[in-house]
Amino acid sequence: MTNPFHDPDTLAFYDREAVAYANRRTTVSRALFDFLARVAPGGRILELGCGGGQDAAAMLAEGFEVDATDGSPGLAAQAERRIGRPVRVMLFEELEAQDAYDAVWANASLLHVPLGGLAAILARVRRALKPGGTFYAGYKAGDGDGRDGLGRFFNFPTEAALRAAYEAAGPWGELEVRSGPGGGYDREPRLWLHMIATR
Ligand code: SAM
Repeated sequence: MTNPFHDPDTLAFYDREAVAYANRRTTVSRALFDFLARVAPGGRILELGCGGGQDAAAMLAEGFEVDATDGSPGLAAQAERRIGRPVRVMLFEELEAQDAYDAVWANASLLHVPLGGLAAILARVRRALKPGGTFYAGYKAGDGDGRDGLGRFFNFPTEAALRAAYEAAGPWGELEVRSGPGGGYDREPRLWLHMIATR
């Protein structure tokens, strides 16, 4: 892979599959509401890799201000259709905001960043948060960088590798890891690692 922060083939996959991917689910996760409970009412939330916009729609419905972003122009267009607001096309490595958000929601999106580049992206996320802000990201656990059966690139971290990447990007006020079973677009059952960090 030539780019340390993203895999062009994975972004091309999401662009190709944008319509089907954006319509694969209508529900949102319990984890989203646990996350929102930690954000002040009406708070400003950055979403990284918003996909079809289901989570952005739910956050807007709960009264939060949402800056929805995705690196795939096709999925950003699908999300815009769902939420009826502009969705920015932005790669994770293009995040330049500083002290700007009360919270950052990255559901199953930073799992596409190569492990060697993850700490630098996490440092950008930390910088984008206001002090005390909350950051959620979910990852598929494994034994390191690899591809799934659909050809998508994943970082598949161990819990130790993930903690090391966060610690390199820190300091964080709080760093909590939860794990549990989950699935994916490839329908393969996997162990997921859910990281909650506060700046
Ligand atoms: N968060 C959405 C959800 O839970 O339905 C989408 C999850 S999907 C597994 C991963 C998303 O991350 C896709 O929308 C993809 O376009 C986006 N993505 C992947 N690599 C990215 C990158 N380097 N920068 C920005 N977005 C990226």
